[in-house]
Amino acid sequence: MTELLAPDEPENITDSYEIAIIGAGPAGMSAAITASQAGVSVVVLDDKPRSGGQIYRNVDASPLPDAEVLGPDYTKGAELTVQFRGCNARHISGVTVWHVGDNGEILFSDNGTTKRLTAQKIIVATGAMERPFPIPGWHLPGVMSAGSAQVMLKSDGLVRDGAIFAGTGPLLYLIVAQYLRLGVKVKALVDTTPKENYLHVMTELTGAVTAPGMLIKGVGLLNEIRKSGTNIYSFAKDLKVTGDEQTAGLSFNCGGKEHSLPASYVFLHQGVIPNLNITQALGLEHDWCQQQLCWKPKINRWGQSSKSHIAVAGDSGGIIGADSAAAMGRVVTLNQLVNLGVTSRSLAEAEAADDLRFVARQQRFRRFIDRLYRPLDQQRIPEAPNTVVCRCEERTVADLKKGFELGGREPNQLKSQTRCGMGPCQGRMCGHTVSELLANWRNEPVADVGYYRLRSPMRLVTLQELSQFTDVTPEAKKTEEAS
Ligand SMILES: Cc1cc2nc3c(=O)[nH]c(=O)nc-3n(C[C@H](O)[C@H](O)[C@H](O)COP(=O)(O)OP(=O)(O)OC[C@H]3O[C@@H](n4cnc5c(N)ncnc54)[C@H](O)[C@@H]3O)c2cc1C
Repeated sequence: MTELLAPDEPENITDSYEIAIIGAGPAGMSAAITASQAGVSVVVLDDKPRSGGQIYRNVDASPLPDAEVLGPDYTKGAELTVQFRGCNARHISGVTVWHVGDNGEILFSDNGTTKRLTAQKIIVATGAMERPFPIPGWHLPGVMSAGSAQVMLKSDGLVRDGAIFAGTGPLLYLIVAQYLRLGVKVKALVDTTPKENYLHVMTELTGAVTAPGMLIKGVGLLNEIRKSGTNIYSFAKDLKVTGDEQTAGLSFNCGGKEHSLPASYVFLHQGVIPNLNITQALGLEHDWCQQQLCWKPKINRWGQSSKSHIAVAGDSGGIIGADSAAAMGRVVTLNQLVNLGVTSRSLAEAEAADDLRFVARQQRFRRFIDRLYRPLDQQRIPEAPNTVVCRCEERTVADLKKGFELGGREPNQLKSQTRCGMGPCQGRMCGHTVSELLANWRNEPVADVGYYRLRSPMRLVTLQELSQFTDVTPEAKKTEEAS
């Protein structure tokens, strides 16, 4: 379970830390390195067996004969994971955090048992998830997100020949290119980036030139896919996954012409959004971000949230990309070190200056990316009555509309009326769709509609696990010991 950074002897394990970090991606690993260099006690919890997060998943234990095919942005992550392993942070891997208390208490599942630790300061670095893509038929077996296909590739070296990739955004093109480099056949790339985005993005061109390397990389990926001879359908809209019980293919409109491609697998992707479960369940203040069309926690430039002991780093605070996530991991930790009284604000300002400048530059580039790959309304706010919105509870647009007509004006009201958002994913896959649908029906801004009110447990916990958990608070333990 534990990826050892220090000898795993019981006497070396404390359950109380100065800093606890949730997530061992670029943000969490950089935060841990910075904290351990400052000499504070630090623990990192992550649900994956190895450090690396989404981008650097398995970078130092790839199942592929040659991980270089995944690209230099992947393999460069090995350096960070080595530094992380060499620092003094304790890494508890393969555990799922399901509760973070206002008192600094963290509860997590470890192999079916709940464990607890406490920390004076907490850094949430739980990253991103793919934006839901609620089109007709997206709930059918055979449809996956492109990111899930990439997870299977990075984790187990598994790929699927003859799949259709559909959607928009840099990650979609990267995954298609990774498939092609491995010699896997891609049936088609159905690109939904609307024509008008290319016009609108002109206003963000100054942002694009702030990171010319990224621009060149993006163009390179597109050229690589074009040169491979893969069928590419540009400016596609009106996507529908066909099939009754199983995916049979994808139909769409491209240049005014209807297409229907047969395929057993369709991989969808239209960008990533922050993973909100912990920040929402903590009751942090959130804002609707019109630039990225998603909710994100309200944080300042130091990642400080609306609760004094909680900071948010990396993509969980708003999509910033892996390099900025690593930079913000350092910045956010410096802020927590100031809060702990370990360093001064002026020293932190000086140490954070380069990283903050880098992140500001990257954010100007991000505005360009966000505008160019802004997903179509019809792919975020479904209209067809039988489109499934909540895949866990199989609730459709029609079910939600009925709830709305009966008076469900807010996400929580719709949830209790229809059970939408009550399934195993706990609203992760329908939360944004519900907010945007309601905003449309109410004809009001999404910011006024709000998001589900989430509570612990923020990940599924079995009753058996809860029943084993008798030691509820440190106070309870003391009372028990005293009696
Ligand atoms: C599926 C997917 C694939 C991606 N692939 C790429 C890519 O190839 N290239 C690229 O440039 N960008 C990729 N991204 C975007 C990418 O995630 C980032 O820009 C970067 O990894 C963000 O770093 P981070 O440290 O903020 O978060 P992450 O790297 O996502 O790390 C967050 C970590 O927190 C863990 N975590 C989350 N919740 C809990 C919990 N409750 N308990 C315990 N652990 C938890 C996660 O499992 C993860 O390991 C991908 C995103 C997704 C969603």
